[in-house]
Amino acid sequence: MKTLKIAIQKSGRLNEKSVELLKNCGLSFENYKSSLISPVSNFPLEILFLRDDDIPEYVQDGIADLGIVGENVIQETEVEVSYLQRLGFGRCSLKIAVPNTNDIQHINELNGKSIATTYPAILSKFLKEKGIKADIRTISGSVEISPGLGLSDAICDLVSTGGTLKSNGLKPFADVMSSEAVLIGRKGSENEELVKELIQRIQSVLRAKETKYVVLNVERDNLSAVIKLLPGIKSPTVVPLAEENWVAVHTVIPERDFWDRISQLKQAGAQGIVVMPIEKIIL
Ligand code: ATP
Ligand code: MG
Repeated sequence: MKTLKIAIQKSGRLNEKSVELLKNCGLSFENYKSSLISPVSNFPLEILFLRDDDIPEYVQDGIADLGIVGENVIQETEVEVSYLQRLGFGRCSLKIAVPNTNDIQHINELNGKSIATTYPAILSKFLKEKGIKADIRTISGSVEISPGLGLSDAICDLVSTGGTLKSNGLKPFADVMSSEAVLIGRKGSENEELVKELIQRIQSVLRAKETKYVVLNVERDNLSAVIKLLPGIKSPTVVPLAEENWVAVHTVIPERDFWDRISQLKQAGAQGIVVMPIEKIIL
């Protein structure tokens, strides 16, 4: 069996979360800052640390079997790779932003204007779809300062909190795409079995992250009302307490409807609710 290779960002916004995800999958390796390749000691896998822009091509060309990269990079490089799994981190949006003083109302007003960006391919596709002819100025970084320097009328850049835009006197105007980190691969990889196993490990970690383990106490009279509110993987576990007529209920709850559920559970008579993180869920 060949050793699998996964490419992740060497340093930057996705490095830490990518390393954390792989470590949570039980993979043991050094996060070398100085080396390009780190072998995993307990799985036939090597980690390649690369610039994020190079990752889609390495995967497309078969140098790496898998990669972790932002969707924005894949769209911009226009390579042939398969999306295997959304990873839930590195969330951001590619937005067109204009100076605060600009009172632009409609996207058509971008006609004839200049827009600075490091994402010319995505931007040009977007403008074409909207039927807008603007002058795209491709630059390699520090896009936010370009309107202030008189280099462009607007910018198109990645935004997460919007803090950078604000501190440069810019306001978001139009959404071009939203992005998050994704696991990519390629069709027909020779290492299909290992790829499958790694994806399963990643999915079990992600599932666990989206879910909490909940234990609560309830009087038997209220048990059916409480159980109705609880999904569980199959159904909740109910165990008698030392005190007569009381039981403990163990279950898992999706993080997304967590607070709603908890207040409904309290109303239904649940007490002493304990919520715990889960490490892995293997179905
Ligand atoms: P590299 O040196 O690897 O080329 P980079 O400077 O191009 O790195 P980073 O700034 O580290 O890239 O961002 C990596 C990815 O993080 C982006 O491609 C994007 O998917 C995601 N991201 C999340 N939030 C933001 C944000 N606010 N600004 C930029 N990228 C973001
Ligand atoms: Mg880059």
